Amino acid sequence: MNTNACPNKTMGCVFDIREFSLFDGPGVRTTVFLKGCPLRCAWCHNPEGLNRIPEILFSKTKCVHCGSCKSVCPSQLEGKCVACGKCALACPVQARRLCGRFMTPEALLVEVLKSQPIFESSNGGVTFSGGEPLLQIDFVEEATKALHKHGIHVAVETSGYSSSEIYKRLLDCVDLVFQDVKIIDDESHRRYTGVSNVDILKNLETLKSFGKSFIVRVPLIPTVNDSQENLRLLADKLRDAPRLQRVELLPYHSSSGGKYGLLNSTPPASFQEKTFGSEVLAPFINCGIPVRLL
Ligand code: SF4
Ligand code: SF4
Repeated sequence: MNTNACPNKTMGCVFDIREFSLFDGPGVRTTVFLKGCPLRCAWCHNPEGLNRIPEILFSKTKCVHCGSCKSVCPSQLEGKCVACGKCALACPVQARRLCGRFMTPEALLVEVLKSQPIFESSNGGVTFSGGEPLLQIDFVEEATKALHKHGIHVAVETSGYSSSEIYKRLLDCVDLVFQDVKIIDDESHRRYTGVSNVDILKNLETLKSFGKSFIVRVPLIPTVNDSQENLRLLADKLRDAPRLQRVELLPYHSSSGGKYGLLNSTPPASFQEKTFGSEVLAPFINCGIPVRLL
């Protein structure tokens, strides 16, 4: 059996659970990173979140060539990896790491409930991020229901790339949405993310009228989407959105922490880092939209 495959659609494939997060919603939060994303952004810093299945990360620099991994691997490291994790367990220097595990909503609940006292004292909660949570809507729905039974606030960070039916299911279940909007021009969006933004912008319109609080996040990528024209077009789209809390602008950083190397791949592109100032805030301020440069 290929254990890479998800055993059940209400199970999530989770590649990280990060406690004490201060930037993914109100209060202190636990951020749950879901594996799998339909976009291929040229600036992506989380390549380990792209594939929807567990996979092995391998650090050539840590490896001491002891051979333990090969001796336990069902295919002697020759065939298709089935993500059994045996090599990672056998490695004495943690040069191999299994990235991604399937979890039931109940198992996730057990893990995050450890932080419930912190959620209560800080008005925090749980944030689903990724990867793309929309790809695992059944899991997100079930996990959110379980979290809500314990009074835990749930936020989600999403690209908005899905059918309107799945997007509405997400809006129905969570308390707060962080909606990424990257590029308004569709041709440019396709070039830099690999997909059209037509569904994303359609879903943004749904979000604006849905009645849930939301925050728009824009990764600011020099020469890609930091032009006044792109920011003005976005601000124009957001001027009639009473439930929009604010826009957050996230400047591009070039380091992805060597994660592409661990996956034996290379970053799709690199961009020059840039210090942004009030010029990127102005299009939003001019439309009366609260905005922060993070
Ligand atoms: S031992 Fe490692 S490389 Fe071999 S199948 Fe299992 S996870 Fe993949
Ligand atoms: S077990 Fe670890 S250190 Fe030994 S050969 Fe495999 S990856 Fe390298």
